[in-house]
Formats: sequence, structure tokens, C-alpha cells
Amino acid sequence: MESLQEQLLINKALLTATSSLAQGSTPEEVLKAACNALVSSSHHICLAWMYLGNPDRENISPCYTVGRASEYAENLLIDLSPAAMQGPARRSLATNKPVLVNVPSDPTYGIWRKRAVQYGLQEALTLPIGTTDETYRGLIVIFADLPAYFEQVGIEAFAAFSQLAAVALQQANLKLMLEKMASIDHTTGLLNRRAFTEIIHREYAQSKRSGHPFSMLLMDLDRFKLINDNYGHETGDKILCGISEISRSTLRSCDWMGRWGGEEFLAILPNTDEATAQAIAERLREKIDQFSITLNGQSIKATMSIGISSYPQDGETPDFLIRAADAALYEAKKTGRNRVVAAKEKHEVYSIASKINNAIVNNRMVPAYQVIVDLKTRKTVAEEALARLIDENGKPIEAMRFISAATELQLTHIIDSEIIKQTMNRCASNISAGGEHIAHFVNLSGDLLLHQELIHDLFTEAKAACLTCGIDLGPVKPLVLEITERQLLGDMNAVKAKLAPFLDFGMRLAVDDFGSGYSSFQYLAELPVSFLKIEGSLIKQISDKRIRKIIGRINDIAKDLDLITVAEFVEDADTADILRDIGIDWAQGYFFGRPVLDIPH
Ligand code: GH3
Ligand code: MG
Ligand code: MG
Repeated sequence: MESLQEQLLINKALLTATSSLAQGSTPEEVLKAACNALVSSSHHICLAWMYLGNPDRENISPCYTVGRASEYAENLLIDLSPAAMQGPARRSLATNKPVLVNVPSDPTYGIWRKRAVQYGLQEALTLPIGTTDETYRGLIVIFADLPAYFEQVGIEAFAAFSQLAAVALQQANLKLMLEKMASIDHTTGLLNRRAFTEIIHREYAQSKRSGHPFSMLLMDLDRFKLINDNYGHETGDKILCGISEISRSTLRSCDWMGRWGGEEFLAILPNTDEATAQAIAERLREKIDQFSITLNGQSIKATMSIGISSYPQDGETPDFLIRAADAALYEAKKTGRNRVVAAKEKHEVYSIASKINNAIVNNRMVPAYQVIVDLKTRKTVAEEALARLIDENGKPIEAMRFISAATELQLTHIIDSEIIKQTMNRCASNISAGGEHIAHFVNLSGDLLLHQELIHDLFTEAKAACLTCGIDLGPVKPLVLEITERQLLGDMNAVKAKLAPFLDFGMRLAVDDFGSGYSSFQYLAELPVSFLKIEGSLIKQISDKRIRKIIGRINDIAKDLDLITVAEFVEDADTADILRDIGIDWAQGYFFGRPVLDIPH
């Protein structure tokens, strides 16, 4: 062997290999990469093995071996016997220094010699590798098939390489620590929402496999804002810590507890049915009720409301289970707080919710279209798309029967976006088939405005629909978004900002159910509304002179604002005539046509 040439070869190979060390994302991977690099650096290095862990462990054996002689290391066990303590591995771990031994002759290699020689191992070099804080201690042992090989090529390159491996190990360790920190909520020390979502999915998969139930408790502190406002945020934080402490000690060791949001906690109870979960939740609620902290001699108390859901009875996916627990929690709040409510108490709502979910998955959430006519000409000028759920037997269910459950479980955005998409397609195919240009009214819940990704999808579909249609309709598009003031309550500027892209695209706005709420005028003043739909219950009472006056005044205001008025619930010719005489522009109702499904047969 030309030792200078071999030395150059080794140096080059190890230098090239350092980049692969940094790619190891765990300490184990870093050491494995180092072993691989060492073995590949020269064909004279016929084996590398590594150990990672406590250097004083009773039995040390390789965690990874590589090289053509790797069979030698596979059953290697280094115990605490005097002979093993003399061996290079234990010595290297104890001194944290490289050790070089000549396999056939070095007396310290005693007990392994015979086997090693059979595998052609002539010289061994140990390289201890660890992080500076000693969280990780490890060892790499390499073997050459030539006597005095490492002496001839020099151990400097190997020592330098092992130092670089130590740096990579340090980085991998830091990465693990950071990952752990990103899973922990700093105030309470509980798992944060991100980490907890993982736990939920893991528990769900487990239950699904085993067929055992599991339950979740969604907890929210009652009137916590008052505590913050009266005693300060720091006191609030102390209460949060106290609550998490109580929860940890009350729940069983197999249960999981996480911080789900600001003052919301979520617990996962594996292998637990609803009745057991209820007993646990009740015990937790009581303990929190008895808990208080003292501030300047004053005792401050907090209470908690808890919603329970159980798999599989309350939902078949983690998402549904959380919604179910959330709805149960909402019920607990509504019915007085400091209470535990189980999802099953609201099963009717869930059975509807699961129907909605099924219908959406199977394309059974479809629009029914109701015509809107011009009261003067009696011609169809528009139609409204109303959601219909087709049940398993093909029977359509009216929106009225599922919308309130959908609202409670925050599912309206899914329904709305389905119906809007189908309506856009209908509009496009109608126009491109040479049909009348009419306006298409669709309902847009406040819930949908909270889902940026759905809004984005709708735009993509809208653009695609306009392309299919192929006719340039000018700046005003046929789609009209109906919003109700019930759904819009909240930050007006935020609502405006969210609606802006729709309006920029050329869609128009209608305020629905006008006359049923208490702040309607504010919406008219602040939003660029084009249509005003008058609440059906007013139209139904049109025979009452005073109601007629109210409708007349509403119409006057609308005209002043250049809005088109639309009356709903017009069920007979007399009503239609009266409305026309008042000056209402358009109308819809059974008199002109019932909602009609557009399902291909
Ligand atoms: P409810 O009974 O309806 O739940 O009333 P609430 O006041 O608890 O509910 P709301 O959602 O109106 O207020 C939650 C409050 O929780 C407001 C927020 O400042 C507080 N909060 C959220 N996260 C933290 C936190 O980390 N520390 C503290 N101190 N307060 C927090
Ligand atoms: Mg609260
Ligand atoms: Mg809250």
C-alpha cells in the first residue's frame, strides 16, 4: 500500500462525506451516515459499527454496522467484565479519546481476537463522538484489513471527521429540542394545538383498528374575559396554569391533555366510552369549581364548561368529533355554564350533520331553483338557488330542516360553496345555450367568509364558468350574493374586505330578510348593496294596512338608494298586485313557482 496515496484518498473521501452528515435529521442518522462514509472512504476499511447511548450501560452492543465484515459486529456484546473494561470501546468511552489497537497482537483485544481474525480484521480505531452538553454520547469503531493501517495513513483525518460528526450530532440534537419546544405551550407546559392534533389522529387510528371507543373533552373557561379584565392577564395566566395542573392530576395517566386555544383545553381519553367520560368530566368540573387562587388576600375563582364527544357514536372522523364536542360545549355555555354536556344529548343535530356530510361527499347536496319575476311584466328576471339535501332514498329535504343544524355545527360554508359552484355552472351553460340572461341569486353565509380557501376555490370556478360561457357580459356578472344581517353581525370593515374581491369581479350583493332584524340600515349604509329582499313574514301579513305602510316605506328608502326591491313569499295574485302597486320591483313565491330541482333523470 502506498500510504501517502491512501492518505490523500481518505482525506478526500472524508471531506466529501462531511456534507452527508448534516443531512441526518436525528442523532442516530448522523452517526449512521458517518459509518457509511468511513467504510466507503477506502476498501481497506472493512467494518464500521456505532453505539449511541449511556457509556456506562451494562451491555453495549452496536446499533448499526456496515462494511463487508459487518457480520463480525452483529452479535458483539461488551459487558462490564474486567476483560471488556480493558477493551478499546470501553476505554474510548471512558476517556473520550480515540484508541488504536492491533487486533492480532494487542493484549487488550483479548476475548474478541479469534473471531476478529477470522473476519480478516487487523487493526481497530475507536472514535468517541458526543454533544458538548453530553445529551448524546456515542462511539464509532472502524476496522482495517491491514496491520498498522491507521498508523500509516495517520489518525488525524479520522479524528477531524469525528469532530465534524459531533457538530452534526449537536445540530440534530438541537433540532429535536426545537421540535419538542414547538409542541409545548409555554404558559401551561401542555401540548399545544399542533402537537395535540397529531395525538387525536393517532388515537383515532388506534380506536378504528381496535374497535374500542375513545372520548374527548373540550373545555372552556367561563367568563374568563372578566377575570383578565378585573385582575390582569398575569392572574389569568396563573388560573390557566392552575387549571392545567388540576386537569393533569385528575385525568388518568393514559389520558392526554392539551391546550387547544386561548382558554380552551382538550383532553383525549383512550378506551373510554361516553358514560365513563361523563363521570371523569364531572369530577374535573367539580375540582375546578373548588379551585381558587389568592391575590392580595382576595380569592379568585374560575369555572369551566365541558363538551364531550365519543367515537364512534358522535362522529366518524376526528373533525366531526371535535365539532360534536364543540356543539356540546356550546350547549353547556348556553344552558348556564359550569356544566358538562355530552354530545349524545344533541344527537338529532348530529344525525342531520352526518346526513349533510354524506350528501356532500356523494353529490347529493343540490340546488333547487325558484324563479323571481318582474312584478310589472311578470317575466322571469332571476332565480334563487336554494339548497336541497337528497336523502339516501332520493327524497329531497328542504333547507329549513337542515340549515339550523348546519349553522350550529359550522357546516354552512360547505353547503354554500357547493350550491354556488353548481349555480355558476348552470348560469354558464344556460347563457352559452342561448338562454335568457337572468340574475342568479345564491346564499352566502358569514361562515363561508371565514374560509379563505373556499373563497379562493369559488373564484377559480367563477373564472372557469365565465370562460365556458364565452359571452362577454360586461362588468356586471349574473351572480348575486344574498347575505343576511344575522350572519353579518360583527366587524363591518372585515366583512367589507372579504366581500370586496367578489364585488370587484362583478358580482352583486343583496341583503336578505330585510325587516327582520334590528340593524339593517347600517348594512345598507356601509355595504355596496344592489338588491333588497323583504322579509317573507312581512309579505304574508300584507292584508294588514300597517304592514303595507311599512313595506311602502322600505321600498321608498330602497328607491332613494337605487336598490332593486324583491318580495319573498308571494303566494297569491292579490299579494302580487298589491306589491306591484306599492312599487316593489320583483317577487318570488309559490304564486310564481316553487323551487324546482335540476337533477338529470
Ligand atoms: P365564555 O364563558 O363564553 O367562554 O366567556 P369568556 O369570557 O371566557 O369567552 P371569550 O371567548 O369572550 O374570552 C376569552 C378570553 O380568554 C379573552 C382572552 O383575552 C382570554 N385569553 C385567551 N388566551 C389567554 C391567555 O393565554 N392568557 C390569559 N390570561 N387570557 C387569555
Ligand atoms: Mg371562555
Ligand atoms: Mg372561548
